Amino acid sequence: MNAVLSKFKAPKGTFDIIYPDSENLEMILRIGYETLILHGYRRISTPIFENTQVFVRGIGEDTDIVTKQMYTFEDRGGESLTLRPEGTAPVIRAYLERSLHSSGVPQKLFYFGPMFRRERPQAGRYRQFHQLGAEAIGSDDPAIDSEIISIPDAYFRKLGLKKYRVIVNSIGCVNCRKPYVTFLREFLEKVDAELCDDCRKRSQKNPLRVFDCKEETCARAISEAPVISDYLCDGCRTHFHSVLGMLDALGVGHEIEPRLVRGLDYYTRTAFEFIFEGLGAQNAVCGGGRYDYLVEALGGPPTSGVGFSIGIERLLRAIDLEGIKPVKLPRLDVFVAAVEGTPREAVLRTLSILRSASLSADTDFMGRSLKAQMRHANRLGARFVVIVGGEEFERGEVVLRDLDSSKQCTLKNNELIHRIRLVIEAKSGANNE
Ligand SMILES: [Zn+2]
Ligand SMILES: [Zn+2]
Repeated sequence: MNAVLSKFKAPKGTFDIIYPDSENLEMILRIGYETLILHGYRRISTPIFENTQVFVRGIGEDTDIVTKQMYTFEDRGGESLTLRPEGTAPVIRAYLERSLHSSGVPQKLFYFGPMFRRERPQAGRYRQFHQLGAEAIGSDDPAIDSEIISIPDAYFRKLGLKKYRVIVNSIGCVNCRKPYVTFLREFLEKVDAELCDDCRKRSQKNPLRVFDCKEETCARAISEAPVISDYLCDGCRTHFHSVLGMLDALGVGHEIEPRLVRGLDYYTRTAFEFIFEGLGAQNAVCGGGRYDYLVEALGGPPTSGVGFSIGIERLLRAIDLEGIKPVKLPRLDVFVAAVEGTPREAVLRTLSILRSASLSADTDFMGRSLKAQMRHANRLGARFVVIVGGEEFERGEVVLRDLDSSKQCTLKNNELIHRIRLVIEAKSGANNE
């Protein structure tokens, strides 16, 4: 049965999430949602595609995402649509379209869902990937920056993760970035010959982004480059120091990384990443920061905002690397086996009674012999088998077999639920002691 049964494969850079990974994913998300709700965030779901301009304006025309990575298509009505490459621009689009500010600011929202970027697939990087993210829109209070950084920290600790560090920086505002960029450009002109083609282009259009380059030659060439933190205006400097002080107060360990910049143009002031050990090049499991120009870029009034996003595939790798087992997989409580010749209706009725009593239950749908049904029940990891049919069936009874103790007994139909409950509760009581 190992032969490949299909000539079709999932598209390059995508994958199926199969049990038990799907179960782990559910558990991780549940803990994530709980953490966000504890901090006063509420879920928002936006469409997975948007008018292309939402991303062109919201991310920036010169960014790699917009120029190289978007899945953009014209629909049958001739409208240009794009599969969302990130979650923030759509949330802001919704914030403006639905006038969310009128129900009070800051609006504290979180989202989860698939994102799409046409990048070269590698470990930890996919063309369809998932992000859990949060946005706090409408406040420039440094306390909310520190809250936004403290949430992933609380979340990761709740999951049992330890091998990460938090790096933070301030990338300033229009006022301080302008003079800084002039100095940076001057510096980059001097080392132009040592830069890669991409960085040469970046040094014209968006020089801050040379710090994102992964080429070692570039890293060497810019090791002496001026850093933004030395050029912050008074407002940005005060804001940054407040954020750092509040992180201390919240007990969120952090390091200042003067070379941390963000790839997206709308970011201002606070920028941060959670860097994990052992994940190679794709080691930033969470990234985020302040984006005080984004709302305006999307046509709204001047509005502050700050947020983060967590790459769920990277988070799952980190969990795996640290040897954390997120869930004890739930067992199937009961497998209903049928003696040959038993009416199917009797089996279905028994299943229905069990499920109504909140016991998970399954049966055979392949016409197996009783012996093969018992094997299948074992393969499914069932706790009990209920055997329906034969003389017992005529008497209104069933056989209940405990697969853990291999004991079995004959019961009246109406005693079945009670007996199973007794055993399960006795077991879970013993486990709690
Ligand atoms: Zn500034
Ligand atoms: Zn480069």
